[in-house]
Amino acid sequence: MQTLDALDTTLRSYLSPQQTNGVKRAFYFAEQAHYGQFRRSGEPYISHPLAVACILAEMHMDHYSLMAAMLHDVIEDTGINKLAINLQFGSTVAELVDGVSKLTQIEFDSLAEKQAENFQKMALAMARDIRVILVKLADRLHNMRTLGVLKPEKSRRIARETLEIYAPIAMRLGMNAVRMEFEDLGFSALYPMRARRIDAALRNARGHRKELVDKIRHQIESTLEQEGHLVEVKGREKHLYSIYKKMKVKRKCFADIMDIYAFRIIVSSVDTCYRVLGSIHSLYKPVPGEFKDYIAIPKANGYQSLHTVLIGMHGVPIEIQIRTRDMEDMANKGIAAHWLYKSEDQSASGSHARARLWVQGLLEMQQRAGNSLEFIENVKIDLFPDEIYVFTPRGGILELPRGATPVDFAYAVHTDVGNNCVACRINRRLAPLSEPLQSGQTVEILTASGAQPNPSWFNYAVTAKARTNIRHFLKEQTWDDSITLGRRLLNKALMGFDSQLEHIDHDQLKEYLASQGYASLEPMLEDIARGNRLPAITAQQLLGELKANPLERGSGAPNPVAIRGTEGFMVSYAKCCHPIPGDPIEGYLSPEKGMVVHRETCNNLADMKENRERLVTLRWDDEVAGEYVAELRIEVENRRGMIAVLATRINSMDVNIDNISTEDKDYQFTYVDLGMQVKNRVHLARIMKRLRSIESVRRVIRVTN
Ligand code: MN
Repeated sequence: MQTLDALDTTLRSYLSPQQTNGVKRAFYFAEQAHYGQFRRSGEPYISHPLAVACILAEMHMDHYSLMAAMLHDVIEDTGINKLAINLQFGSTVAELVDGVSKLTQIEFDSLAEKQAENFQKMALAMARDIRVILVKLADRLHNMRTLGVLKPEKSRRIARETLEIYAPIAMRLGMNAVRMEFEDLGFSALYPMRARRIDAALRNARGHRKELVDKIRHQIESTLEQEGHLVEVKGREKHLYSIYKKMKVKRKCFADIMDIYAFRIIVSSVDTCYRVLGSIHSLYKPVPGEFKDYIAIPKANGYQSLHTVLIGMHGVPIEIQIRTRDMEDMANKGIAAHWLYKSEDQSASGSHARARLWVQGLLEMQQRAGNSLEFIENVKIDLFPDEIYVFTPRGGILELPRGATPVDFAYAVHTDVGNNCVACRINRRLAPLSEPLQSGQTVEILTASGAQPNPSWFNYAVTAKARTNIRHFLKEQTWDDSITLGRRLLNKALMGFDSQLEHIDHDQLKEYLASQGYASLEPMLEDIARGNRLPAITAQQLLGELKANPLERGSGAPNPVAIRGTEGFMVSYAKCCHPIPGDPIEGYLSPEKGMVVHRETCNNLADMKENRERLVTLRWDDEVAGEYVAELRIEVENRRGMIAVLATRINSMDVNIDNISTEDKDYQFTYVDLGMQVKNRVHLARIMKRLRSIESVRRVIRVTN
């Protein structure tokens, strides 16, 4: 078990005394918080966070990460919350601890294997601060190292998750040392028999090979020494899991894999890499097609090295990797290498900046290599995700663009779900459909049959699928609405001749439609609704052959069309006079716009009287629904904060304000113009009364143009 003293020594080698003290303070805090809790092994719980901090200290991570490591299970396992950590250790540490806790809360099991990659992305997207991932990886590493004490079932689950999620994340971040340890520990826990067998074979082979390995190494060393290169040559063994994968994927037997002798040569500069390569190639014969220059063209996670395969004495294949010390560092530590305190640089410029630095480093490498765009794409997408990942209630994962809302989610699930969506739950809490989603949330869409997309969704739906579907639906809906309205208008006109659409002879109707250039009734009804065709004239022409006389003409017709407020897109309310239920109204069939409802007293309507055949007598239906905009002008005393007082008062009446603007009347009074949504005249009158009761309000009038 690690001790605080040992950690202290490591910390002092690269952190300032204050920083070291901060980490120790976090230790004591966590020790208190976990007091009385024990690990399965019987050790006090604090041994775990301490070990996690030690792993990060070996990587030379900054003091914030180490403090977060000490505290990483506090929120989850003790009664202490994020705020308390913030007060004690500041917001950086609190955010890190919170981030690690959130990652831990996600249930990784129960998932199909194919979702593993999405899960990796989700984890990366959730951790806005990449240090959260590094702490989580260290946490997982220690748990894997101490996996033996768990029940087999649980340890297998954790092992599988490590292989599917965490090892690939470590690889994406270039942290190969961690990745290999994850793989070997995971493999041993998941397949103990196979691991033991390969391990035994490996030990056995090592004995047989030792002599030859030493011989080859000696040859390489002395050759390079003669040519004046100062190098370090290491014998290299494949780790368990990679041997297993090779056997499985490439269908090779153990002996074939072990028949390869592998070495790594560490040199001082990039230049030397290539010169050493030349020397090696003159020592043994290279195998054609096996040379790879990952210095000129680095791997996606920033890995750089020269790889070659040679035929040594007795014809044994020799794999050689040549790289600089920096490249070696990068290959082992990846992104964590950037936290190394190489100088006394105190500006801990935030983890995002460091992650960016890493990506920037990769970009530069790529530019020098002058090649392959996809190289960087993987890494960039993972670290600066434009996507979010959210759960369906059944544990599936959906990828959506950043800023996506439940409406986008609904359409991503299925078009029908989108079209019938009425509400949603985010993490089981009812939430507005406009709320932007965040990675890791579980989203549930509530649907109702017969529910319809709302035009306001356009304001916040961001995905092409959602937008296209909403648009398509609205278009169809407009078509349906217009046919319904056209039928009502035509019937009303026909009623003036004491007739009805149903009473008209079928052949006669067909003949008339053909004469007007319509293939069927619907397009003509649509034209009527859109104001492109007048109902009265149409009615007259239709009945023409019957030579019927109108019972009554003009706007005084006995059967006004009832407005229910549910007519949809073909009926709109004039912006000039803002009619609300209770107002006497009249309709105007405006070409292409359809029916526009005006107040009878509207001045604009008076101008339209010239086209009286376009006027339609209307009344409000008794069951009228919806909310209507009413415009008020309020005269108030010039006083600071008056608008806020007004707005608060109106809000308390549960009324939505549509718009608000002010205009000075004189030095003493100001006009406040308010657009608000009301149900009807009674509702409006009540609001006006309450506004008048406010001190400083002198007059409240409803605006008429
Ligand atoms: Mn933990």
